[in-house]
Amino acid sequence: MDEMQELVNLINYHNYNYYCLDNPTISDAEWDKLYDKLLEMEAKTGVVLPDSPTKKVGGEPLSAFKKYTHEITLYSLEKCNQYQDLTDWLNDKKAKNKNINFFVEYKYDGLTISITYENGILVNAATRGNGFVGEDVTEQVKTIRTVPLKIDYKGKVIVQGEAIMKLSELSKYNKTAEEPLKNARNAAAGAIRNLDPKVTKSRNLDVIFYSINYIDNFDIKTQVESHKFLKDNHFNVCDDWKICNTIEEVEMAVKQIDVEKSKLDFLIDGAVIKINDISERKMFGYTAKFPRWAIAFKFEAQEMSSKLTNIIWQVGRTGKITPIAEIEPVELAGATVKRATLNNYNDILRKKVKLNDYVFVRRSNEVIPEILGVARETEDSTPIQKIEYCPSCGSKLVEIGANLFCKNTFHCAEQIVDRLTHYASRDAMNLIGIRDKTSKQLFEILGVTNVADIYNLKEEDLKKLDGFKDKKITNLLNAIENSKTVELDKFIYSLGILNIGKKSAKLLAKEFKTIENFKNASVEQINNIFDFGDVMSESVVEYFKNENNIEIINKLFEKGVKVLDYKEEKSQKLSSMTFVLTGTLPSLSRDEATKLIEDNGGTVTSSVSKKTDFILLGEEPGSKYQKGLELGIKIIDEKELKKMIE
Ligand SMILES: [Zn+2]
Repeated sequence: MDEMQELVNLINYHNYNYYCLDNPTISDAEWDKLYDKLLEMEAKTGVVLPDSPTKKVGGEPLSAFKKYTHEITLYSLEKCNQYQDLTDWLNDKKAKNKNINFFVEYKYDGLTISITYENGILVNAATRGNGFVGEDVTEQVKTIRTVPLKIDYKGKVIVQGEAIMKLSELSKYNKTAEEPLKNARNAAAGAIRNLDPKVTKSRNLDVIFYSINYIDNFDIKTQVESHKFLKDNHFNVCDDWKICNTIEEVEMAVKQIDVEKSKLDFLIDGAVIKINDISERKMFGYTAKFPRWAIAFKFEAQEMSSKLTNIIWQVGRTGKITPIAEIEPVELAGATVKRATLNNYNDILRKKVKLNDYVFVRRSNEVIPEILGVARETEDSTPIQKIEYCPSCGSKLVEIGANLFCKNTFHCAEQIVDRLTHYASRDAMNLIGIRDKTSKQLFEILGVTNVADIYNLKEEDLKKLDGFKDKKITNLLNAIENSKTVELDKFIYSLGILNIGKKSAKLLAKEFKTIENFKNASVEQINNIFDFGDVMSESVVEYFKNENNIEIINKLFEKGVKVLDYKEEKSQKLSSMTFVLTGTLPSLSRDEATKLIEDNGGTVTSSVSKKTDFILLGEEPGSKYQKGLELGIKIIDEKELKKMIE
């Protein structure tokens, strides 16, 4: 039995590192082996330990959810969305005790759940419901990878967390799902409030824990200590919180969360501000609805519903046709949104979107707004017809996979213009001044039909374009000149090959090193790159099979475009730092240490001066050490150097 418990502990340890800490400590194959061994052991002995990871597969579906009365009420929070209201609230607390400090954290946008542990074992999980009575979702929650079935602490404890679906999981799910999920919040709630625990399991949810609502025999004085307790017991927590002493600090912290929210892999809809000290909280107490010691600051919505009024079919640089939905304008995350993408015709069918429907629209800072699905139909709802001919050039469209394509690559105006814009974009050749409108003028007025023509442009040509005055012309001509020396990855990206974005261009550059190697790469060679599949590899090979493409690339070279061979990016961790070495280092030779410093952007000099930043000190140092001390230069050893580079 001990052996079995050991194995269970080991797998749980790896799971914790993988799912909670994002720090895998074992390969998937090794993990599978351990798991299989455990399954075998359980089958042989007929024993399944209470914290066995095999329990996470989910039992039989329930016929109905049981009601669960919470032992400790789950209050909702007072909410505000104006900084003035937040300041007033904080002032009110400070007026009672000016030394109060605040714990500021994310306000997660998922489904709130409460979990009870007794004797270290998970005995119940329930939804918040109305705060007094929720639904028993123990079997569902047990399947979630970031919920521990067993914890070290043996007293009774009731913890609260938010069940969420990571945005990366949502998009993975939606790529293949017949019925895409409309958003991460609904997806998480739907997965937990599903009678079949196997469905919950399949959605790959996570729970982020943030509160201890009850604990036996354990003295927790502050929110910071609560957080530590949760972490020590291997609950999945988020470490992005802050202690703020002043009202200004709270405001700054909230604003920072607002700025950073779009980079997170899960939804948040605001920040929660709590008094850190628990005895202080007791003094403030509760209203009938919520605690007086916490408040939620809600950000502007990133998701709204609006009426879909029209579809425009856009032709991209690769000939791919993208349906763009025109919607009645809505305010989303601080901007007015009038258009949102529907990706492709298949997406319209999968999402069952029709003209005149009210649809959910989502916008996060960096991504183009997207239609997620239908909110409600109207009397005038009508199906969206698939188009047959290219809206730009009238060619018959071809269906490839989920997408429609115009194959009239070199004579389709919208494609030509979009290729110019793409080539000029910042992450490609960075030709400042060439954006959508200019590309269109370059094509229509100056007859630029491919990217090589850009290098024929002269001052007198550009004068013919709207809005081009002296300075703008000089800037553009300079940018064109500068673009003649370009890094391989940027060049690959600028070609606008189907399915090859910025990230894949980088990987291709890293793999093939020179433009010649890249041009001659085979499907098999490209497939060897991690994350590359047939579709991407074939797109590359197809691209170079087309003689027109080769001709344009050769023209670029004739015009003087020079593509640099790929060089490994050097780390810049020691950039602009100067080191002097003295004495024998424990593991590195002098040459090795020098190379390590230089590879990370630092400089090594032989003599000590005021300009020296660090003395790297070994055994039996020379006079340089003494001089360093005299000049007050920072002395470090090999270990510290390695730490700086990590
Ligand atoms: Zn066309």
